[in-house]
Amino acid sequence: MSASSLVAEAMWKEIESTRSVNDEQLWTLHFIFGKNFERATRIVDQRGVKRISGDPSGRSIFQVMGESRRKEEYMCFAENFCTCYSFFYDVVNRGEQLCCKHQLAARLAASLGTCVEVKVSDEELALLLSKL
Ligand SMILES: [Zn+2]
Repeated sequence: MSASSLVAEAMWKEIESTRSVNDEQLWTLHFIFGKNFERATRIVDQRGVKRISGDPSGRSIFQVMGESRRKEEYMCFAENFCTCYSFFYDVVNRGEQLCCKHQLAARLAASLGTCVEVKVSDEELALLLSKL
């Protein structure tokens, strides 16, 4: 894991424990993630992050809305996967970014406790995952 992912990791834990972001954390997250962090906060402000959890397993995936006016939505795992183009292009292929804005938005909303929680059965969750 790179130094900046470790710093980010520590930051998410702090935010999780206080359920808020202070100026210093904002500055650091912005420093690590740049413009993507701004975009992620815009998504979180619009309550654009849903956490879909399967019952009874409790396994979950995030559904994050796109930033643009077109009402697209992306499925993502905060740590390691997103269905958007930027994830494949900037994160996987070119390795230029740690994660995409949807993953960031998911992480931020989860840490702040502001996800829209959606419960489905494990069967429904499996069906969703099979379409990724
Ligand atoms: Zn994405």
